[in-house]
Amino acid sequence: SGGDNVQIAVRMRPFNERELALESPACVTMPTEHMVVVTDPTDGEKQHSFSFNYAYNSFVDAHDEAYASQEKVFDDLGKAYLEAAWAGYNTSVFAYGQTGAGKSYSMSGYGEELGIVPRGLRELFARIDANQVDDLSFRVEVSYLEIYMEKIRDLFNPKQAVASLKVRESPKLGIFVEGLSRRAVTSYEDVEVLMELGNTMRTVAQTNMNATSSRSHSVLTIYLTQTRVDQATMTASDLTSKINLIDLAGSERQNKTGATGKRLKEGSAINQSLTALGNVIEALADNCMPAEQGKRRRKRIVPYRDSALTRILQESLGGNAKTIMVAAISPAADNYKETLSTLRYANRASKIQNVAVINESPND
Ligand code: ADP
Ligand code: MG
Repeated sequence: SGGDNVQIAVRMRPFNERELALESPACVTMPTEHMVVVTDPTDGEKQHSFSFNYAYNSFVDAHDEAYASQEKVFDDLGKAYLEAAWAGYNTSVFAYGQTGAGKSYSMSGYGEELGIVPRGLRELFARIDANQVDDLSFRVEVSYLEIYMEKIRDLFNPKQAVASLKVRESPKLGIFVEGLSRRAVTSYEDVEVLMELGNTMRTVAQTNMNATSSRSHSVLTIYLTQTRVDQATMTASDLTSKINLIDLAGSERQNKTGATGKRLKEGSAINQSLTALGNVIEALADNCMPAEQGKRRRKRIVPYRDSALTRILQESLGGNAKTIMVAAISPAADNYKETLSTLRYANRASKIQNVAVINESPND
């Protein structure tokens, strides 16, 4: 199969209470379903305009035609990743953006406003239920991990023996986290219970930006195996796919969050991981640029090994996966710099081409 660009969806949330209290004006518009325009609050003439696969406006009134609801976002992104997983591709969705910009809202959602993770799981199990035929069986397993200060913790295993799990690679398994537990699940509710328990183990700290902000990256992986028996030959084959659902830590710089001491140190470890991700994205994007006429391009080495995050995301970025990035942004002028930096990051990521292949193998 050919290259497949990383799909980028930018999503703008409504003003939060802090921004309303500050009476910060808006500095972002989405003139079309693809365009995002940011205006420099100190100079109205200075505009930065970007084009992405999707520009989701959740800033306008919910009754507005342009409003992007949880359902709308799932219809586009969730269905796309499920479709790919069903066909046997590895897929990944990751949310990037400053703390409080709406990463967890888009991924998990809050209350009744379910995000693309729970909606996707529901749809996955509904599909399995609708495909109960002879000679075909399904297995769904999940794992859930946190990367905090470069250490990997199994959120399904409170008794994890070592301080940090290791990332390994094998020809058969691809990239995997050694010792990470997998739980077999048969419904969305199974996963919900497991994740709630796992979330109580997450390292959550308070910053001024957002009281419930997470300073860690979380990765939920769904492993889908479809086993088909061929009656004629009495052989079985497996179609397997991994769905990585990643909620990254906040991408903001330190000074604005009022972090000091331990918090500050955490901040730099988080940014070290996100910086590594930025470097990987930059190298991959560079490698996907067409060569100058008559010249052969020397491919840059992609520094996946620089952080736990980039090791785990290796297959999602430039590798064997279909990947969607959700870039969450605030509409407020007060967040202009962070928003612009998120959009630039997303723009770079949009240049990456993945090569996804179907994972099919004889059953053994
Ligand atoms: P992050 O995970 O990026 O730190 P959250 O997803 O927790 O941010 O969002 C911060 C706050 O903004 C939450 O109260 C959330 O409900 C709200 N929010 C985020 N995105 C949206 C949206 N698209 N529509 C409505 N509220 C949103
Ligand atoms: Mg969050």
